[in-house]
Amino acid sequence: MTTWYDVFLVCPKCEKAFKGTSIGSCGYAGKDSDFYPQYWGANPLPHFVKVCPSCNYADLPNKFKQGTPGQDAPREKNLPCWRRYELVAETHRQQGASTFSLAQTLHRAAWGARAVDGDKAKEQEFLQQACELFEQALREDGVPTEPDDLRPIITYLVGELYRRTGDRETALKRFAKVPPMLKGVEKLDWLQKLVESQTALTQESPSEKSTKG
Ligand SMILES: [Zn+2]
Repeated sequence: MTTWYDVFLVCPKCEKAFKGTSIGSCGYAGKDSDFYPQYWGANPLPHFVKVCPSCNYADLPNKFKQGTPGQDAPREKNLPCWRRYELVAETHRQQGASTFSLAQTLHRAAWGARAVDGDKAKEQEFLQQACELFEQALREDGVPTEPDDLRPIITYLVGELYRRTGDRETALKRFAKVPPMLKGVEKLDWLQKLVESQTALTQESPSEKSTKG
């Protein structure tokens, strides 16, 4: 169950104070095949990032200064969840964030479009952007290998994002890369099973873009 409370923040860019919502607790029951946590209760995803209502500066909550509780501070704007994460990605891009970090933020924009906004077109747009950036991060050795080697997981994820955006052929190619990466890695048994089930799903069912016929 999701609980939340008001926070008073000061924008690091325009120095204006505003009121936002912070998450006290939340939980989830399972995950989508692209790792979106299926939260129960109110969806906390929009509130994991903050957007200044005065200048649209957007970032993680800990990048804002603490404000003094006051009645006259404006509340955060009611933006679509995908837009909140898109704005955070813009901030991080200007700050020179890594390709991998940008991919994660834009993937969350896609989750927001799916689970909060119900906007299929925006979900597809951000899944595609995230997919390209995750692939680029893999190519450029930009995927973390410590403390855990995330490369097998991200290789699977790239396949899954291709599948979700209708490119079954490339999805299967990416899935096929994963099992050789898992040889001798016992703690990723769950990933092996996921790759097998998503490969079967991709082979059996027509993609969303070719459901007619
Ligand atoms: Zn501001």
